[in-house]
Amino acid sequence: MLSKENEKRIENWIEEHKEEFIADLSKIIAVPSVADPGVAEGEYPFGIESANVLAAAKELVEGYGFAVKNLDNFCLVANIGEGEEKIGILGHLDVVPCGNDWNYPPYQLTVDGDILVGRGVLDDKGPLWASIFAVRCLKDLGLMPKREIEFFLGGQEECGMNDLLHYVDVTEKLPDVSFTPDGNYPICHGEKGALRFYLAIPCNDEKIVDFTGGTVRNVVADKAVATLKGVCGKALSEKLASNERISVETEGEFVKVTATGASVHASTPENGINAIGVLANALLDAEIFDGEAKSAMEYLALVNSDYNGAALGVPVEDEPSGKLTHVGGVIGMDRGILNLSIDIRYPVTLDGADLIEKIIAKAEEHSVTVHDIADTKPAYSPADSDLVRTCMRVINSVFHRDHWKPYTMGGGTYAKHMPNACALGPEDPDYESPFGLFRGSIHQADEHTPAKLLFDTMKVYAKLLVELDDIDVTK
Ligand SMILES: [Zn+2]
Repeated sequence: MLSKENEKRIENWIEEHKEEFIADLSKIIAVPSVADPGVAEGEYPFGIESANVLAAAKELVEGYGFAVKNLDNFCLVANIGEGEEKIGILGHLDVVPCGNDWNYPPYQLTVDGDILVGRGVLDDKGPLWASIFAVRCLKDLGLMPKREIEFFLGGQEECGMNDLLHYVDVTEKLPDVSFTPDGNYPICHGEKGALRFYLAIPCNDEKIVDFTGGTVRNVVADKAVATLKGVCGKALSEKLASNERISVETEGEFVKVTATGASVHASTPENGINAIGVLANALLDAEIFDGEAKSAMEYLALVNSDYNGAALGVPVEDEPSGKLTHVGGVIGMDRGILNLSIDIRYPVTLDGADLIEKIIAKAEEHSVTVHDIADTKPAYSPADSDLVRTCMRVINSVFHRDHWKPYTMGGGTYAKHMPNACALGPEDPDYESPFGLFRGSIHQADEHTPAKLLFDTMKVYAKLLVELDDIDVTK
């Protein structure tokens, strides 16, 4: 346990280092570190700006007395302290693009009264830097924990996470427990597993030339188009006139039927409208197919009729994380076969291999095959584990929000790719932005945070690292 006296010393240290923190963070915010997706050959796997921010961070963190390695411009790994076990702290230095709607300069840290504004102040440069200062504080005060501390500073979290995958790949001994200050307070103790695959649906019919929809696999399709031949565009148009999500166009011998949906992220599909399902239902209403194409449309309509796995044979849920969700994100047609991508987020206590077996069996009933399967396991620490309870106690001692409870989520942070990892902070779920809706938060224009939130985050991490000395972090 941290003594009252040492707690006071930590508070004083933070008070004395506020200006230095803001000065150093300014240097990091000043790099427009939007990473390239994928992995490019050569020296700059995620582009030059991602490499630039790693270089700027390396100089600072070395100056603080950490041993820093740059892993091929994928990420930095910074170590300090000693011990048999290791605690990981994972954050990212890349940012999403800023767009052109800012009232503040995006790549400059602006201190405006009590708030800090700039791309990355909240996601994730600011919180990562706060956790680094937390460890500097412990070092300066002679309060280093009994475990070694390993920071991971990533260069491509926002578009691929190839930074972390590389680190996991080349690291001999990963940390025994890890935290990422890249979620919401208090603590995310479970991230759902992710299953991604394609369904191959036979659809041989001379009337259907093409069927496409969606743009990316982890987003509900907002548009789908069927190209038909040998049907009367005018009659079809009349039949579907009352469906406001459908438009019909005739182009020479072809008739194009377009459906419009509403796109949302695959972790919350219930808030969207899947255009692929809308289109399949419209084509069934128009009664233009029979045989295989009709069965294919019925299957597409069925798969998109719910978002909780019923049509796929896996309508499952658990207590800590709720229902499985699924979306059909992208569809294309190749030689009489429709290929529909499916993105599933499955409950934290379930097994992906088990689910896939059921999905394959269910698909077979419809003569549909499953291919290109990828499974990312869930991350989960029970809410009553020593680890989660210690985190909650420390967080509450700083924030005093009795209503905060550990939560689980469908989206993925770095925590999902690491053993025994949780997202802890930094966003305050009770905070009301002075900029209103759609402005001021992460990924939005005028991204900002109260400065106090970062200093409180510094305190949380400093206290937590000491308090973890009292527990077995692997249970
Ligand atoms: Zn982030």
